[in-house]
Amino acid sequence: MIEIDEVTKYFGTKLVLDRVSLTVNRHEVVCLIGASGSGKSTLLRCVNRLVAHDYGTIRLDGVPVDDPRFGKTGLQKRAGIVFQSYNLFPHMTVLENITLAPRRVHGVSRAEATARAQEVLARFGMDGFAQAYPEQLSGGQQQRVAIARALMTKPDVLLLDEITAALDPELVGEVLAIIRGLKDAGMTMMIVTHEMGFARDCADRVAFLSDGMILEEGPPDRIFGAPEQPRTRAFLDRII
Ligand code: ATP
Ligand code: MG
Repeated sequence: MIEIDEVTKYFGTKLVLDRVSLTVNRHEVVCLIGASGSGKSTLLRCVNRLVAHDYGTIRLDGVPVDDPRFGKTGLQKRAGIVFQSYNLFPHMTVLENITLAPRRVHGVSRAEATARAQEVLARFGMDGFAQAYPEQLSGGQQQRVAIARALMTKPDVLLLDEITAALDPELVGEVLAIIRGLKDAGMTMMIVTHEMGFARDCADRVAFLSDGMILEEGPPDRIFGAPEQPRTRAFLDRII
């Protein structure tokens, strides 16, 4: 579970997260919504410490994310992240892409990493593509590979940052179906998304960020159906 408690983050003198508190329980899916620049990506990146927060506490299963117990790579192993741009290495095959970190960073043997890769690729209908190069895949397929890569270390939580934003509309569905499948399998996820239909369908809770603050959070039916804050209402009116 992820516990974010009064987290504040500045970039220079700019306040980007302002005492944000949010809990994502085990097996729970929480979607973060909000306008561009409201701090969604920053909050997600603070959870696996790609960005270091300034004040407050973030705990992963009770352990602060800046605790030395995680070591240099332990946190990335337990909190996988996937971005809008899939960030696959173009000169490496799918198999090489997804076994790289487990082998180089986490000390897994080639045989074990390959076996795990085949299992994860098969789960996403990508087992025929292990030897393909990223440019030979559609955007949706590349994003499925990126999700597979994040799952290689068997993370406890998955952090997804607008993973369908760069996809052609007809490819969005196949990626969202995978996320839906992960939810049904019990994965704990924090998801930044502009896909309100997906958030409504898949989230256990939705949190609305505005200017670095969570203005409101609650079950999707309430946030989308009866938002309490005028700014939430204005945001939803603009994008739905
Ligand atoms: P979007 O929907 O456009 O992705 P977001 O809600 O994810 O927006 P963030 O990327 O978290 O927003 O950015 C929040 C604020 O922090 C913005 O004002 C942004 O310009 C600023 N910011 C983000 N990353 C950095 C950085 N590395 N250095 C300086 N400022 C940053
Ligand atoms: Mg963002």
